[in-house]
Amino acid sequence: MNIFSDELLKNIGLISVITIAALVSVLLIALLLTYLMFRNTKIIKFINNKVSSVVLKVLLDILDLMYMPAKKITITLGGNDMMTDVVGTEIRNILFKNTFSRVPYNERIIVIPQCLRSLECPAKFNSVEGAKCIECGKCKIKEISRKAKELGYIGTYIAPGGGFVKRIIKKTKPHAMIGIGCPYEVNLGLLEVSSKGIPCQGVTLLNSGCVTTDVDLNAVFETMELCKQKEK
Ligand code: SF4
Repeated sequence: MNIFSDELLKNIGLISVITIAALVSVLLIALLLTYLMFRNTKIIKFINNKVSSVVLKVLLDILDLMYMPAKKITITLGGNDMMTDVVGTEIRNILFKNTFSRVPYNERIIVIPQCLRSLECPAKFNSVEGAKCIECGKCKIKEISRKAKELGYIGTYIAPGGGFVKRIIKKTKPHAMIGIGCPYEVNLGLLEVSSKGIPCQGVTLLNSGCVTTDVDLNAVFETMELCKQKEK
C-alpha cells in the first residue's frame, strides 16, 4: 500500500526539480558576475561605491554556500580554478576595510605563510607562535616584520600549517588580522576569521607554491597602514 498518493509524489518531484533548477540558475548568474569581476576587479569597487554593498554580500554568501559546486563548474567550463577565491578575497577586503581600518595598530596581528621564507631560513619553530623571524634579510619577511614593529603591531607570525590561525588568535586575542597566502588560503582564512567577528584583510601571493613564494611588499605595507584616524 502506498503511504503517499501519486499526486503528492508528483508534486514533491516537481518542487524538487524547480528548486534544483532555481539553485543552478542562481549559481550560474553568480558565476557569471564572478567571472566579470575576476577579469576586472574594478567592478567590485564600482558595485560597492555606486550600487550597494548588499549586492556584494549576497554574491559572497552564494559563493561561500556553494563553494565546491562553484569551483567544479568553473573548472568544467575551462575557467581559472582560483577565480572564486580571488574574487571572494577582493570582496571581503572591500567589505571589511572600514572596520579593519578603525582598529589601532597595536591590536592587530599579521600572519604569513612559511613558503615565503628563504630555503636557508635560520628561524626556529615554536609550536604555539610558529617560526620566529630573526630578520636575517634572506626573504621579504624581514621587511614585513620591521614594518609591523615600527607600526606597533602585536606581532608577525609565520604559520607552520593548518590550524595555526586558530591557535594564534586564541593566544594573542587580536581585534584585527592581516593574512598573506595563496588565494585559496586567504579566502577561506578570511571567512574563518571574520566569522569570529574579527575584521580582516588579505594579501595574495604573487606566485603560489609550497616553497620560496613571493609577495608585493607595497601591497602588504599599504594594507598594514590602513588607518581611519589617518584619513581624518
Ligand atoms: S628574514 Fe626571517 S623569515 Fe626570512 S629567511 Fe631570514 S629569519 Fe627566515
